Amino acid sequence: MDPPQESAAAGRKRRRRGGVRNRKKLSSQKGLPPAAAPPTPASPPVKRRRKDIASQAAAMPKRGNTSSLLDKMRARLSGGHFRMLNEKLYTCSGEDAFDYFKNDPNLFDVYHTGYQEQMSHWPEQPANVIINWLKSHNASWTVADFGCGNAAVAKNVKNKVFSIDLVSDDPSVIACDMAHTPLEPSSIDVAIFCLSLMGINYPSYLEEANRVLKPSGWLVIAEVRSRLDPNNGGADPEKFSKAIIQLGFSLVSKDVKNKMFILFCFRKKEKSKVAKSIDWPQLKPCLYKRR
Ligand code: SAH
Repeated sequence: MDPPQESAAAGRKRRRRGGVRNRKKLSSQKGLPPAAAPPTPASPPVKRRRKDIASQAAAMPKRGNTSSLLDKMRARLSGGHFRMLNEKLYTCSGEDAFDYFKNDPNLFDVYHTGYQEQMSHWPEQPANVIINWLKSHNASWTVADFGCGNAAVAKNVKNKVFSIDLVSDDPSVIACDMAHTPLEPSSIDVAIFCLSLMGINYPSYLEEANRVLKPSGWLVIAEVRSRLDPNNGGADPEKFSKAIIQLGFSLVSKDVKNKMFILFCFRKKEKSKVAKSIDWPQLKPCLYKRR
């Protein structure tokens, strides 16, 4: 949120007062020239100068307004940059996204600043729902957070968490394309995808989760509702679940009570078997509108 702006009149008053005080202070400091020389006879009459300054000031934008305008312009620019990066992530492969951010890791901060701003409008944060779910289960379970963002899960639970994302600015986060993680096969009790099935090759992320999950391990997925809304060009959530069942999982629960996201809990079958061909639905990219 923008910091509150002081009123233009209060600002002018404060600057007038502060200005005189500062001038006195500065000119009394050793080595500094006096702040303002008194007008010499050659200067134009004081009255006219005042009038000129007043009319120039009237033509100039007020200082308070200028900074709030700049803030707005900055916010608009970074909002536009965020939307561009977001669209990129939803329309390319994980491999391309990894290369893209590797070339300029600062873009990751731009993305996450915009992402946090968008999420601040959501009534419930899916990451918090998952954190509470983990807290109500077993603290000895090992967790892999695929597309961890700011690693909120790892920071808020007692479990051992492998946080994975495209960029790592924290030594505890593994930077990789999550279709190919360095995790050991059958080593993980819970695999989380919280709004992270972004790439066009998202099934390969779920195949990777299947590889690293232990038998009976949990697969917890929170996805943006609109991506799974067939009435709005989104995928059929039944088709999505069916594809994951064909990967070797059972659907334990599907929570649709949240306004902005759907939460799925799957469990890997004890003796899971991947179907020969899986009909993965295409997930609609989640593109944000200009606010
Ligand atoms: N799970 C976090 C962040 C969600 S934003 C949260 O709920 O707050 C989605 C995250 O997935 C981004 O940080 C993005 O960089 C990451 N991501 C998308 N595709 C990825 C890939 N192929 N490999 C690793 N991380 C990926």
